[in-house]
This record gives sequence, structure tokens and C-alpha cells, in this order.
Amino acid sequence: MKTIKYLDPDIELMDRKQLEALQLHRLKAQLRRCYRTSEFYKAKFNEAGVKPDDIRSLADMIHFPFVTKAELRDEQLAFPPFGRHTVAPPEKWAELHPSSGTTGAPVNNLWSYRDVKNISLWTARTMWTFGVRPGDIIQNAFSYGLWVAGMSTHYAARELGCFVIPIGAAMTERQIDYLVNPGPTVLLCTPSYALHIAERLKQRGISPDDIPLRIGCFGGEGGAEVPATREKIEQGLGIEAFDYYGLAEIGPTVASECPAKAGIHWVEDHLLIEVIHQETKKPCDQGEIGVLVITHLTKEATPMIRYWTNDLATLDKRKCKCGRTHARSVGGILGRADDMIIYKGAKFYPVQVEKVVRSFCELSDEFCIELTTDPELHVDRCTVVVECLKEQDIPRMNPLLKNGLKEECQVTPEIKFVPFNTLERTTFKAKRIVDKRQKRT
Ligand SMILES: [Zn+2]
Repeated sequence: MKTIKYLDPDIELMDRKQLEALQLHRLKAQLRRCYRTSEFYKAKFNEAGVKPDDIRSLADMIHFPFVTKAELRDEQLAFPPFGRHTVAPPEKWAELHPSSGTTGAPVNNLWSYRDVKNISLWTARTMWTFGVRPGDIIQNAFSYGLWVAGMSTHYAARELGCFVIPIGAAMTERQIDYLVNPGPTVLLCTPSYALHIAERLKQRGISPDDIPLRIGCFGGEGGAEVPATREKIEQGLGIEAFDYYGLAEIGPTVASECPAKAGIHWVEDHLLIEVIHQETKKPCDQGEIGVLVITHLTKEATPMIRYWTNDLATLDKRKCKCGRTHARSVGGILGRADDMIIYKGAKFYPVQVEKVVRSFCELSDEFCIELTTDPELHVDRCTVVVECLKEQDIPRMNPLLKNGLKEECQVTPEIKFVPFNTLERTTFKAKRIVDKRQKRT
């Protein structure tokens, strides 16, 4: 069992033509179902002048309208509590998983019993992809409860026959205790929390060589595919680190890295993935960065048709070195469309700052980007705040960091050094942008 490379080879190695035929078949059924049973989708399709039967190929999806988070929020306010895009009847509902609410009122998403089953199976497949096997001990430090990934990985671990420590994203000292005894072989959490755990492990004088941890998969935020971050996590915990992706509206753990580490593989038998140009709204070419737009092919309770995720990525449909045919986003999630910082005419994302900051061993893993308004000149100021481990290194680090940022971001933000442990450590998702700019009216 441990040497089997693929959990579901019929699906994972499926010829692309066959895979796309399966997607088209499922898409047609999903569109018909939404049009027939959802006033929300019926109105949207009618307004755009499209009908489910217009779909002849996957490329025809370009004519269908996007669904945005703001739209779902309005829909749920007008038709509380779940909106008219909730297609399955109440007797089929199994779980409620709202979005985290970091960008406004949470959006409620439902999983039906069939959705739970599908999510458990595809998550088991993605976990197998990065190396989890029956008998592994999994320390699940993803947040449990309302957040999606804690539950999905828990259910999947059961499918795979693993022993789970359902600790959730809390109790850092206890996390360290468990890493020693019973000694899990797999760790799941956000990349920020992995770095925090590694930092505490070192402070407690425990060497990564003294714990049996073998692999880790990190999601909830980008970072695991940023080379400097991956290296810090791998060295700090003595593991091989993989990237994981999901989101509340679409579902958890829908893309994971394989041993080839050539991007995150999508579960394309359940999702139709498009990468759309932010301004033209046309499909991006292979390798071009755009917004991920995702359609549920099998979701029963709250299906999303062309959900505009705001997450930036690329898409590569070529067969991977690992043999899998499911498309990959190389480099994982490259940023949030709404996290873009425009400063002195240059556009950049927090992930680029992360790449530079974490390439210096003189700095801690934490950083934040402060946006303020100059009180006299009334212009925007952008300051990257970092922790220097030794105060005497600051004069040397200042020009090095400035040059690194200029090269990566095409602009030089101001730099502020603060003592080690000043910036907040998180057990969940790190908040990298602090916006204190005066609102212009
Ligand atoms: Zn692969």
C-alpha cells in the first residue's frame, strides 16, 4: 500500500481529452440543474443571454457571467440566510462553512452529505499525492470548526486509515509537546504557523532531528511555494514541505503539490478551472497570470458557476512529471487581486516582499507592509517593517534589503527595523498589509 504512487490512477492519469469530456458532461448537468432550480442563476443567465444548452465545449463558458463574493453577500442579505443559489433542499444539508469574513460579512456555504463524501475523497487523494499513507500520524493544526480545511483533512485522514491528533490552530506549546510524543509524521497548518512552530521548537532546544515528522502540507495562505519560505519551514521542522489550496466558497483542499513540486494539481474531475485576465476578462494564455475563476462540476448544496476568486495564478495543462494529467498552477497562488499595492507607480504583492525578506537569515520570518499618508505632503507612504535578529546587523541589512526589494518590486519602500518578537505571531493566517492611509473623498 505504501508504495502505490496514485490513490485513484483511473482519474489522476486520465487522458486529457477524456478528462475534458467528463468535465463537459458534468458541467452540462450542473448548468441545467442550476438554471432549473435556482432563481439566482436563472436571472443571471437570462440577463447575460445564455442558456445551459448553449454549452457545446468547455470554451463556451466564456459567455457565462461571473459570480462575485459581493454578489453572494447581497444575495444572502436579500434572501436570508443562504440565498437562492442554495440548490439542494434542507434535508440534504450536512454542514455550514462560512467564509472567514476578513473582507466583509461572512458568506454562508453549505455542504450536502454528498458534498462531504466528495470532499473527503478528493482530499484523501490530494493528501496521498503529497505522500500521506495509511498508518501515518497526522497533527492537524488547520483550524477546525467553521473553517473548511480542518474538517476536510480530518475526514480524509479517516478515509486513508491514519491516526489524527485534531489539535487545530491553537496551543503552540502543546503542538511542540505532541511533535515529540506521540511524534506525528505529518503536520498540516498555515505556512505562517509552521514558521512559528519551528521558531518555538528551536527556542525550546529541540532539534528537528529528534522528532519523527516527515512531511508537512501548508495552506490557507500562500507561501509554501515561495522558495525562501519553503526552505525555512523544511529546515526548521526537518521535513519536506508541500503547498495546499482551497477556499470557503469552492471548498477545501482542492489543489495540492505532488512530489515533482511543479505547481498545485487541481481536482479537475470536480472543478472547472479558468484563469481570466483581470481587465479584459478573457482567458489567459498558458503561463500568464490572471484571476482564478472556478466552476463546481459536482457540488450539490451551493454550487458556484464561474466564481471570481480574486486569487492570482497561472494554469498549465501539460502532463506533469509525476504522470498526473490534472492541470497545475505553477508557484501556487501568486497573490490576491485586491492585495496589490500601487506605490510610486509600481505594482507589487506581499508575496514578493516575503520572497525578499525570507532570503535573509539575519531577519526573522515576520514582516508587515504599512501603508500611511504623509501628513505634510499628503502622498502615500509604504514601509516594510521587519525584525532584525541582532541590532548590530541593521546598518548592513538596510541597503541589502532596499536593493533586494527594488529588484523584486521595481520600487523602494521605506524600511523600519524592529526588535525580534515585536510583530504579531499567528496560529492562522498572517495579516501582512496594515492600511492606515487617509481615505480620500
Ligand atoms: Zn505532478
